[in-house]
Amino acid sequence: MAILVVGHKNPDTDTIASAIAVADLWTKRGMEAKAIAQGELAPESAFVLGKFGLQAPEIVTDATDQKIILVDHSDLNQSLDNLAKGEVLGVVDHHKLGDVTTPNPLEMWVWPVGCTGTVIKAMYDFYGIEVPANIAGILLCAILSDTVMFKSVTCTDADKAAVEALAKIAGVADVNALGMEMFKVKSAVDGAAPSELVFRDYKDFDMSGNKIGIGQLEVVDLSMLDAHKEALQAEIEKVKADGRHSVFLLLTDIMKEGSEMLIASDDATVVQKAFGVSVDGKSVWLDGVMSRKKQVVPNFEKAFSA
Ligand code: MG
Ligand code: MG
Ligand code: MG
Repeated sequence: MAILVVGHKNPDTDTIASAIAVADLWTKRGMEAKAIAQGELAPESAFVLGKFGLQAPEIVTDATDQKIILVDHSDLNQSLDNLAKGEVLGVVDHHKLGDVTTPNPLEMWVWPVGCTGTVIKAMYDFYGIEVPANIAGILLCAILSDTVMFKSVTCTDADKAAVEALAKIAGVADVNALGMEMFKVKSAVDGAAPSELVFRDYKDFDMSGNKIGIGQLEVVDLSMLDAHKEALQAEIEKVKADGRHSVFLLLTDIMKEGSEMLIASDDATVVQKAFGVSVDGKSVWLDGVMSRKKQVVPNFEKAFSA
């Protein structure tokens, strides 16, 4: 039975590309593995797979009796259902360590870099296995996506070096043009239902016993979202009402390099505590904030634990 390689719920491009690449790498190391996903592809990921001629992974949501490798997450509430009824053999990630535990030793590749794709490039090098050109292409796109084309505070020199090497392998001459093409696809919001937009890149967190949801939409120009804000606010209020303390939605302008945060909360003073800005109404502009992982989640965790 093939080992299943899976990323987080509401899959993004890094989660999808990493699952495909790690399945390839494990299979070439002599352990048959298969990429799966916990849900449908977002438009950006569909564009990236199409561009490099790869198929969407099969959707699987339950880990019972399966051997599993986790990529791009290690938090139980972002993972497969019944993870404890399967066996986690490995974790390849670039987030804070989550709450997954294992009964047996496992292979851990968790680095503080901008993208899981960067870790995986190093793994191919470590095992002396060549990265196939199409997989190099999707890993390259994952790094551009996660680091917002190197602008995010999460971006490291290792991410930039990986992009340079992967671009050569994939035969991509103009990395910036590819990145802009990808972010334009990601920015297309017209015609999408508010719930699809809120959950396109959404994660639940446990913060001192409070269930907190944080979603993010990254666009090349925030004004594209003007016509959608009211519906998005109504949608996050609905998601919050479903057993959460707060739901926040980051509307990130990748050119202005900051985010407007929409707020649905039992206690909006946590926003003030977390960011030191006064909140008047249901949204706030956070200058320079582009990374949920590094600039939003730690601030809220501190605010909730205080
Ligand atoms: Mg991800
Ligand atoms: Mg990632
Ligand atoms: Mg992201």
